[in-house]
Amino acid sequence: KLFNELQELKGNIRVYCRIRPFLPGQKEKQTIVERIGESDLVVANPSKQGKEALKTFKFNKIFGPSSTQVEVYNDIQAFIRSVLDGYNVCIFAYGQTGSGKTYTMSGPNGASNENLGVNYRALNDLFNISSSRQSSIVYEIGVQIIEIYNEQVRDLLSTDTSVKKYPFFSSYIWFIMCMGFLQLENIPHSHIPDASMHPVKSTNDVIKLMEIGLKNRAKGSTAMNERSSRSHSVVSIHVRGADKKTGSTLQGNLHLVDLEAQHINKSLSALGDFIFALAQKSAHIPYRNSKLTQILQTSLGGHAKTLMLVQINSDIKSYSESLSTLKFAERVS
Ligand code: ADP
Ligand code: MG
Repeated sequence: KLFNELQELKGNIRVYCRIRPFLPGQKEKQTIVERIGESDLVVANPSKQGKEALKTFKFNKIFGPSSTQVEVYNDIQAFIRSVLDGYNVCIFAYGQTGSGKTYTMSGPNGASNENLGVNYRALNDLFNISSSRQSSIVYEIGVQIIEIYNEQVRDLLSTDTSVKKYPFFSSYIWFIMCMGFLQLENIPHSHIPDASMHPVKSTNDVIKLMEIGLKNRAKGSTAMNERSSRSHSVVSIHVRGADKKTGSTLQGNLHLVDLEAQHINKSLSALGDFIFALAQKSAHIPYRNSKLTQILQTSLGGHAKTLMLVQINSDIKSYSESLSTLKFAERVS
C-alpha cells in the first residue's frame, strides 16, 4: 500500500522552469540560455567553449523569457481545481534572489490584470469554483501564514488579538449541526500547529491577510534583507467541503511556498532530501529533518500534488547560481 501511495506521489511531482527576461535598465544582457525546448533547456557555461560548455536539463515544462503570467497559470490551474476535490497541493517557487519568484507568485507591485501572479489567480479560482458548486457542496476556507527562519516558525498573522483559534470553523460547524445533516466537524483537518487560522470568503480577504503577513515579516526583523534571503514563507489555504445530499466530506490544502535559494540552509536541503525520497519511492521519507518538511508532511498523505516552479536569471554573471538552482531542481524532477 505504501508503495502504491508513493508511486502515486512520484506521478504527482511536477517541475516547471521559468526564465526571467532581461529588465529594461539591465546592463548585462548576455544569456547563458542556448536553447529552449518544450521540456528541455540547454545552458552554456560562459567560461567554456563549444560542446563542452553545454548542459541539458529536463523539466515538465519550460517557460521562456517572453512567457506571460497567463501562460504560466494555464499550466497550474488544474492543481488548484484539485484542491477543491480534496487534494493537498504544494506549490514551491524556487530560485536565487532576483530570479522572478515574487513576480511569478505575487505579480509585480500594482500589477495590471494581465500581470497578476499565481497566488491571486489561484485564490480567485478557488472562490469562483467553490461558489459555482454551491448548490451541491458547502465549502469553508481558512488561511494561515507563517515564516520559517533558523528552524523557527513564526506566525505572521498572530498580532491580531481578536483572532481565536478557529472562530469561523466553530460557528460554521455549529450552524451545520443545527441543520442536522452535515458533519464537517468530523473531518480531521490538517493545519500548521500554533499558528492562527483565519476564515476567508473572498480573494480580497486573502490578499489583505497576505499584506498583513508581509508587513509583519518586515517588522520582526532588524536586518530585513539578510533575513528575507534566508527565510521561507508559507501561505496555507485550508479547504473543507461537505456534499449537501450525501453528507460525504472532503478536505484539501493549498500551500504556496517561497523558497530562497541563495543560502542552502537546513530547511532547503532537507526539502531536497524529502522530495528526492518521494521521487525515488524510498520507504523512508525524511520529513522530520526540518521545520519546513514537518509542516508540509501533513500535506503529503494519499492525495498530494507537488509543483516546483524553478526560476532562473539567465545573464552570464548569474551562471553559477543558475546552475546550482537547475541541479537542485533536476534532483527532484
Ligand atoms: P525574487 O522574488 O526571485 O527575488 P523578483 O520577482 O523580485 O525576484 O524579480 C526581480 C525583478 O525582475 C523585479 O523587478 C521583477 O519585477 C522583475 N521580473 C521578474 N520576472 C519578470 C517577468 N517574467 N517579466 C518582467 N519582469 C520580471
Ligand atoms: Mg521575492
